Amino acid sequence: MSIVPEIQYSDDCLTIPGMATAHSHAFQRALRGRTQKRSTAAGSFWSWRGLMYDLVRRVTPQDMYAIARFAYTELAMSGVTAVGEFHYVHHDRDGQAYAERTELAEGVIRAARDTGIRICLIRTAYMRGGFQKEIEPSQLRFCDESVAHVINDVEKLKTAYAADPFVTVAVAAHSIRAVPLPSVTDLSTYASENSLPFHMHVCEQRRELAECIEEHGTTPVSVLADAGVLSPSFVGVHATHLSTDEIAQIGRAQSLVCLCRTTERDLGDGLPQTSDLILAGARICVGVDSHAAENAFEEIRAVELDERSRREIRHAALDADELLEAATRTGYEACGMLSNVGEDLVVLDGRDPSIAGMDHRHVSDCVVFGASPRAVKTVTVGGRIVVDSGIHVAYQEAYEGYLSALARLGLNKVM
Ligand SMILES: [Zn+2]
Repeated sequence: MSIVPEIQYSDDCLTIPGMATAHSHAFQRALRGRTQKRSTAAGSFWSWRGLMYDLVRRVTPQDMYAIARFAYTELAMSGVTAVGEFHYVHHDRDGQAYAERTELAEGVIRAARDTGIRICLIRTAYMRGGFQKEIEPSQLRFCDESVAHVINDVEKLKTAYAADPFVTVAVAAHSIRAVPLPSVTDLSTYASENSLPFHMHVCEQRRELAECIEEHGTTPVSVLADAGVLSPSFVGVHATHLSTDEIAQIGRAQSLVCLCRTTERDLGDGLPQTSDLILAGARICVGVDSHAAENAFEEIRAVELDERSRREIRHAALDADELLEAATRTGYEACGMLSNVGEDLVVLDGRDPSIAGMDHRHVSDCVVFGASPRAVKTVTVGGRIVVDSGIHVAYQEAYEGYLSALARLGLNKVM
C-alpha cells in the first residue's frame, strides 16, 4: 500500500511531497569541512567528538540560533519541510541552567519558524559521561540532573507551542551510554503515556557494544528490548551494529530506524543491515544528523545504494517509492507530524540537468536516484512559500547571520 501522495507532473514541473529529516544536530553545521584533513584531530568518531565538544563549549544562544537557521535554510532549499532536532545542548557555558531553562531549545525552534519549516524539538536527556562514567567538564552543557528536569522542560515546551501547528515536541535519551537504564525506562514510559515519539542513538560505534556488555551483560538494543523500551513510537537512530536477535526485536516492535547515511559514512560508523531490518518489520526514515553535507535526495538513495554495496547486489532494500515514503510519511511520523503529511509540497524543475529528459514511466526513480537539490524550484510549507525560484526567501539574512556566528566563534571564512 502506497501512502505517499503521488508525484504530479505537468509543464516541466514535478511536485513531490515535502521531505522530513528526522535526526539533526543543527549546531554541528558549523563543523562542515573543518574536520576532514588528516592533520586534524578527528581521526575517529571519538576524536571527532572532541572537536564537536570544543565548538559546544563556545556557542552562545545567539550563535545557536544563527547556525541552526542557516542549516534549516539549506534543508529547505533541498526539499526538506520538517526537521527532527535531537537537541541535547541545554545549559550555559559553565553548565548552569539558563534563567529560562529552555532558552536554547526555543532558539532552535525560532530558527525553524523563521526559516518556515516544521520542527519537532526532541528534548534529549544526557545524564552521565559514558558507561559507568561521571560527566566530563566538556559535557556539562548537556547534563540533566534528573528525569524530572527533562520532563519539566518537555512539558514547558509542549505548553508553549501547543497552538503552533508547525512545532511538535518529542523525548529522547541520548544513548544507553549517556543515560542510565532506569532513567531511559522512565523517559520511555513518560513518552508513551503522552503519545510522544521516543528517540535514541543506538549502536552507532562498535566500542559502545563492548562497554554496554560490560555494564548490562548484553548489547544496547537487547537491553532496551528487555526493558520494554521498543515500540512502534521508538525511533532508533543509526542501529548500525545489531545482532540477529536485535534485528528481530526491532522488527517485532515495528519500531522506526533512522538512518543517517551521509553522517554515518563521514564518521566511519559502518554499514547497517537495512534489508534485514525491513524484512523483520522495522520502518525506515532518514536524518541529516551532523550536517556534514546536505542533499535530501542523496540521504534517501544512500539507504538503498549503501545496502547494494554491502550485499553486492542491485535492488537490495527499498525501491524509489518506498524511499520517498521513508522521507515523507515515516519521517513525519518520527517527528509526531503524521497529520501534516501531504500539506507541504516541493516543486522540481523538470528541465534541471539532474532529472531532465526523464521517462514518464519512471518519474520517482529519476527523482530519488538522480535529483540534485539544484532541481528544487519552489517549496511550500503549510501553504506558505519558503523557497522561490530555487532560493530561500530570506537566504541573505540567514547567510549573513551565519557568517557573523562563525566570526564570533573564531571560525575563519575564506570566501
Ligand atoms: Zn545524532
